[in-house]
Formats: sequence, C-alpha cells, structure tokens
Amino acid sequence: MKRAVIAPPATLALLGGGQLGRFFIQAAHELGYRVIVLDPDPDAPAGKLADGHIVANYDNQAALSQLTQQCAAATTEFENVPAAVLAQLAQTMPVSPSAEAVSIAQDRIREKNFLKDHGFSTAPFIAVENEADLDNASDHLFPAILKTARFGYDGKGQARVNSIDEAKAAQRDFNTPCVLEKMMPLNLEVSVVLARSADGECRCFPLAENGHRNGVLDITIVPARTTLALQQQAEEIASELASQLDYIGVLTVEFFISDGQLLINEIAPRPHNSGHYTIDSNITSQYEQQLRALCHLPLGSAQSHSSSVMVNLLGDLWYPLGTHHSIEPEWTVLHKIPNLKLHLYGKTVPRQGRKMGHFTILDDDIDTAITTAMAARKAIGILDSSEKIIP
Ligand code: ADP
Ligand code: MG
Repeated sequence: MKRAVIAPPATLALLGGGQLGRFFIQAAHELGYRVIVLDPDPDAPAGKLADGHIVANYDNQAALSQLTQQCAAATTEFENVPAAVLAQLAQTMPVSPSAEAVSIAQDRIREKNFLKDHGFSTAPFIAVENEADLDNASDHLFPAILKTARFGYDGKGQARVNSIDEAKAAQRDFNTPCVLEKMMPLNLEVSVVLARSADGECRCFPLAENGHRNGVLDITIVPARTTLALQQQAEEIASELASQLDYIGVLTVEFFISDGQLLINEIAPRPHNSGHYTIDSNITSQYEQQLRALCHLPLGSAQSHSSSVMVNLLGDLWYPLGTHHSIEPEWTVLHKIPNLKLHLYGKTVPRQGRKMGHFTILDDDIDTAITTAMAARKAIGILDSSEKIIP
C-alpha cells in the first residue's frame, strides 16, 4: 500500500536512546528531520544529539501524549519497549516496526514458535514456561542452552546445561519462562540486515560474518566468507521472513551455519550492531533505511562500496591491566590508520563489557581489511582471550 510521504522538517519519535538511536538521529538530521527521544536514562547517548529528550518510562502517559502532539511518526531502537506503547502510538501516527512484529521478536518463545509455524529452520528447542516442562525434554536436546524468553542480550540470561537436572536448576535460578535449545556445532555465524518498505519492497545489506567473545559481538566481516549460494539463500530466507511478519522498517536476522545449513538463531526488530559497517561502507546505512521506511521514502541502495571489518570497543579497554580507575584509550593509534573510521558513543561511564564505540576498516580487499583490523585491535590494546576469535 502506498502511504503519504512524511517530509522534513517533520519531528519523529524514537523509543530508546542507545547508540543505535544515536546513529538513527544522525541519519535523520542529515535528511532534515527532527527527533524526540523517549528514554528513562538522562544520560542516554541518543538523548545528547536529539532535538528533545523526554526522560520518562516508556509507558508514561504524559510522555506519550507529548509525542503524539509533536511527532509525525514513531520508531524504536530497543526491542524491549512495551509493544502496547507502539500500539497506542499507532492510533495517531505511522509506527514502524509494528507492535505485533516487536512483540514477537521480544519474546523468544513467540519468536521460535513463529519461525517453526512458518517453516523456518532453527536449532531444535522446547518452550519452558515452568520446571515441569523440562520433565519430558528429549535426550537429543543436550548439551543445550537455556535462554530466558525475555530481556536477554549479549549472552546474558543464558546457561549451558548438560542434563534435565542441570536445566531445571538453571530454570529455578532464572525463575522466568525460557527456551531450551540444542547447542549446535557452528561453522560460522552470519546476519542479514534488511529494510522493507510499506509497499513491500525489500533490500538486503550484504551478508555479515560475526565473531563473538564472551557472548558479545566482537567483529563483523563483510562480505561473509561463505559461498555465494549460502549468501543468496540467507537473503531469501530473511526476505521471506520479513514478508511473513508484514514487516516495515529495518529487520536483522541472525543465522547459524551448522553442518553447512542455515538455521535462524534470532531476529531483532531494528538496526543491529552487525550492521554498523553500513555507516561507512554502504551507499545507504541501515539507519538511513530505517528513516526511509518510516517516512515512506523510497529505500536507498544497500550496496557496499568496499569490503569492511567492524570491531567493537568495549568498556574493558578503559581499564588496562592493573588499573581500577578508567583511563581514556590512546585514540591516536587508531587515527593514524588512514582507512579506519572510529565511532565513539559518548557514554560517560565505561563498564566492563559495555559497548562504548566501534571502528570500521574499509579496504577493497577483504583479507587486507582483516589484517589491518587485527593489527589495529592489538595496537589499541584489545587483549586476546582463550576463546576462538575470527579469523
Ligand atoms: P543474544 O540475545 O545474547 O544475542 P543469542 O541467542 O544470539 O543471544 O546467543 C548469543 C550467542 O551464543 C550466539 O551468537 C552464539 O554464539 C551462541 N549460541 C546461542 N545459541 C546457541 C546454540 N543453540 N548453539 C550454539 N551456540 C549458540
Ligand atoms: Mg544474538
């Protein structure tokens, strides 16, 4: 369905004020829009760039009526915003992604059941509403991983378990609905970030290859080092899923490649850390696509103009070995690398494991980009762990 274009200088509502929102605001400003952020944290990184920051809970009625009065459309950068809030805003303005899509993505039980019911392949799983649901868990699920249905991120809310008894103990600990999922042997983890417009047009960004450390995304390599056939298949699956969800906006689909097969791990109803590379190496960034889909503009080209490697900068970097107080890293070592783009999120408190910034290396040759990125990583002081790091 064709919908009326929302033209600048319209004001847009953004639910959530993290770094994904901060990049969305930069894209919106670039095209002449204003943005009001709703986020309870007065120090939220996006709040500092926004044209207005309402510091209140997402379901605060005074805040929502202010957004209703001042904004022409609303989007989110945070999948845990209450779906009911998106539904409420949708009564008076275009909202994308929809409350329904977000409510599926924010609950692993609904998400996994949606995928299964619509014929998408996932790791074998069962829903665990309570301990008794584990009684009949089949042996073939173990070793497994128990994940809380809601509010997990960066590997939080997950426990590796080897037996029903261990799973029960972990479920008692979490004391909330979970999914129990078979641990899969992974060849690779990849993600598709795509944008889908209100009239059903879908554009996928090139397939991203993701390396994690301690459950947190560490590095993204684009294009992913897989076969062309797998790249195309991942795009087809992700586009089909977006269409089944009637999705409008930017959607991320995380995949495992296990025994050469693509399995959907999880989805995120928003731009994604593994799509940060698009800021520097693509004609249109994931954030500009989010804006375009929201405002009913035509989608931009999702093509890359070079290969890229994105490296996350976590708070750990502010605490070199032996220090208890934080020290600003020596950024000049990164500024000296001519094909490196540095992004810092303006977070005032560095904490271990907290995403503080990232850099992207751009190069025509992916192997050279990887070598440069690994050297840059070492130069700024990112310590190697015993965990497997790509490459
Ligand atoms: P998060 O919300 O924290 O991103 P994920 O479900 O994506 O949660 O899990 C985080 C990481 O843990 C994955 O990227 C993957 O490396 C690993 N992982 C999760 N589920 C499985 C699984 N079933 N088999 C193997 N590895 C897994
Ligand atoms: Mg994940």
